[in-house]
Amino acid sequence: MTDTWKTRTKLVHGGVRRSQYNEVSEALFLTQGFVYDSAEAAEARFLQAGEDEFIYARYGNPTVAMFERRIAALEGAEDAFATASGMAAVSGALTSMLKAGDHVVSARALFGSCLYVLEEVLTRFGVEVTFVDGTDLDAWRAAVREDTKLVFFETIANPTLEVIDIAAVAEIAHAVGAQVMVDNVFATPVFSRALEQGADVVVYSATKHIDGQGRTLGGVILGTTEFIRKTVEPYMKHTGGSMSPFTAWVMLKGLETIDLRVRAQAAGALHIAEALQGHPKLAQVIYPGHPSHPQHALVARQMGKGGTVIALDIKGGQGAAFRFLNALQIVLISNNLGDAKSIATHPATTTHQRLAEDVKAKLGITPGLVRLSVGIEDHEDLIADVLQALDAV
Ligand SMILES: *Cc1c(COP(=O)(O)O)cnc(C)c1O
Repeated sequence: MTDTWKTRTKLVHGGVRRSQYNEVSEALFLTQGFVYDSAEAAEARFLQAGEDEFIYARYGNPTVAMFERRIAALEGAEDAFATASGMAAVSGALTSMLKAGDHVVSARALFGSCLYVLEEVLTRFGVEVTFVDGTDLDAWRAAVREDTKLVFFETIANPTLEVIDIAAVAEIAHAVGAQVMVDNVFATPVFSRALEQGADVVVYSATKHIDGQGRTLGGVILGTTEFIRKTVEPYMKHTGGSMSPFTAWVMLKGLETIDLRVRAQAAGALHIAEALQGHPKLAQVIYPGHPSHPQHALVARQMGKGGTVIALDIKGGQGAAFRFLNALQIVLISNNLGDAKSIATHPATTTHQRLAEDVKAKLGITPGLVRLSVGIEDHEDLIADVLQALDAV
């Protein structure tokens, strides 16, 4: 039945496990362990735990399992493993499947911590990593080799919102037998069709749109049951990156409303991007869902909508960007994204501060660039706030 449900039904009812009390709202099983009826039962469960049998929260927990089932149903994945943070998902997915001598090709424009894992951690254990401009298909073609085990990229780059063609890169990777892993945060699980477009593994920071209200850190790895249960689960359960039941309960309730929130946020983002076109204080308004985005056709094909984040390049550099940020009255200055509250970030001095100047320039992280994560507030209020802050520049 679940398979034929449409998205919003899956998000409200998918994955539910009810206790003997038949509660309406999903129960929070805040327990590390589980009691066995006998020593023999404990032995049997360690030998082979059944679908409704749990051993220890690092291995699995009923609330966490509900979250995993629900997000897998949303993504159209066979299975999912929930993790303590987005980075536990990225590092766990990579480390569980790679070994010394493997070759990886990755897009260069990455979230700082993803770059650290690929560039500093994996290479320390003998994995060779080649970085390419992810939007350049010829660069992917030139970089993959017969021994390439994996390609990795963020489907929409942070903060410059360049879009990578999942189907095209997957075709190049699969031709040499490599797997495709995508960090899909900016595309959001609502607009993602990454698996159907050729990705083998999809990773999310659930901290962003899945929580959606700025409370908890979490992540999830999605893929085939074979990959999740044979490769990811043994690694995650023994190395300690599993999601806590409390977090899973918050994330489950986040999933109930994610479709409503993200669609409202994307509509707001488009509305704001339209209102700011040609503004004299702006060198550029970047929004993947607006026809002015250079890859608008790809965005329309790949995800339908443009997501919840806009980037504004304010004329006058860092000083102008700071005046803009300091004049905002509704939009908060912070560094999360996907939240119900609109948030503005100055990447060059915060999230991407550690990058060398030439790397920032290469990635398009200019001194005037401001990332705006659009929340669920009234669009007109947000437009008025952004316009009055631009007046203050
Ligand atoms: C936030 C983020 C992460 C890391 O997620 P955490 O939950 O903060 O660990 C990874 N990739 C992308 C693209 C992100 O935006």
